[in-house]
Amino acid sequence: MISAEKLKILVESAKFDVSCSSSGSSRKNKGGIGNASMGGICHSFTQDGRCISLLKILMTNNCVYDCAYCLSRRSNDFPRAIATPDEICELTMEFYKRNYIEGLFLSSAVYKNPDYTMELLLETVIKLRKLYGFHGYIHLKGIPGADQKLIMRAGEFVDRMSFNLELPTEKSLRLLAPQKTKKSILTPISFLHGEKDADRSKKSRFLPAGQTTQMIVGASPERDGQILNLTQALYKKYALKRVYYSSFVPTTNSALLPTVPAGLLREHRLYQADWLIRFYGFSVGELISENENLSKDYDPKCAWALKHPELFPVDVNTAPLEMLIRIPGIGVKSAYKIISARRYGRLSITDFERMKIALKRAIHFITFSGKFFGSIKENMIERALKSLDNSKNYEQLSLFSNSEINTSVLTGEL
Ligand code: SF4
Repeated sequence: MISAEKLKILVESAKFDVSCSSSGSSRKNKGGIGNASMGGICHSFTQDGRCISLLKILMTNNCVYDCAYCLSRRSNDFPRAIATPDEICELTMEFYKRNYIEGLFLSSAVYKNPDYTMELLLETVIKLRKLYGFHGYIHLKGIPGADQKLIMRAGEFVDRMSFNLELPTEKSLRLLAPQKTKKSILTPISFLHGEKDADRSKKSRFLPAGQTTQMIVGASPERDGQILNLTQALYKKYALKRVYYSSFVPTTNSALLPTVPAGLLREHRLYQADWLIRFYGFSVGELISENENLSKDYDPKCAWALKHPELFPVDVNTAPLEMLIRIPGIGVKSAYKIISARRYGRLSITDFERMKIALKRAIHFITFSGKFFGSIKENMIERALKSLDNSKNYEQLSLFSNSEINTSVLTGEL
């Protein structure tokens, strides 16, 4: 069985990877129960909003690479450990049997070389499935640069794989993660996507939960527009399930990195914009230009609406679905409620209250058969919207406050 000391090192080192869940909490245990800053078991979310627990661990944090932003980098003086495939399997099985976890998120530093590390990971997942009979969820972090055959074989045994893009451009990778290239990361993503596409016709079970990736935001100078354009391209080209954004936190003393954290608000805004691209029919170009950052003051849908006074107010009794979902504060579920209720008569503001459709934001952008109840002056609307957003303390879902979508899904879904 794996030693407690080794386990501590390997779960602590894994906690900065957000490609399966949220991270970044610094809240510590001051005498009560629980500790949000510890690694170990993380939560992730299925597409239907169900929360599941995963054992989140590295195979090893002993790395031959030297990425400037990473605690496990070669040049960092840090306790190192390596687990054997059997240790990971036994730990997963024991935790699973005790009902601590429903799955495994297994990642690794690059130990010796990419092929050697990928072989270790592959051996672990094959053993888990075949020898230990584990049928729970497995998310495996792939090793860029490893042999394609190893990566494809792993896809037959795990539910999800992720290759982290880490930084948005080749230039930043060269500077901060010199042993990685965009090609070495995108090539396996492309292979897996191709195989999954071919596999769909055979109805077998290759990588059933698809692929995700992660980008660190704020460690390099790229703007949100550039990051979101890349995100949009990744969704289109490789049908990724999610792109995760990890706001940069200085954990090393590299002179190449900013000395201040990028902040959770930036990460939060990117998730909001990402959601609009995936579910609300927005293109990146509508929300932001390549060299801009998202507004700090307003969520991206409000910021877009304020830039387009010519499109508002929208009459809720006549607007098509595509326009209803573009109204700040109106989510997809509420828009469908409106369309369905309109069949029985003209809607009034009291109907919205009865249907529990939030009006705090929307009120400034809608009319009810020509009647307007919002602020008339532009600066009054902006002030009202700003106060709404600031009062939320960057809760992950201010854009979708009418609860039509499980809040947790923003920070991780399976
Ligand atoms: S490859 Fe880079 S990011 Fe990954 S563990 Fe090694 S130093 Fe850290």
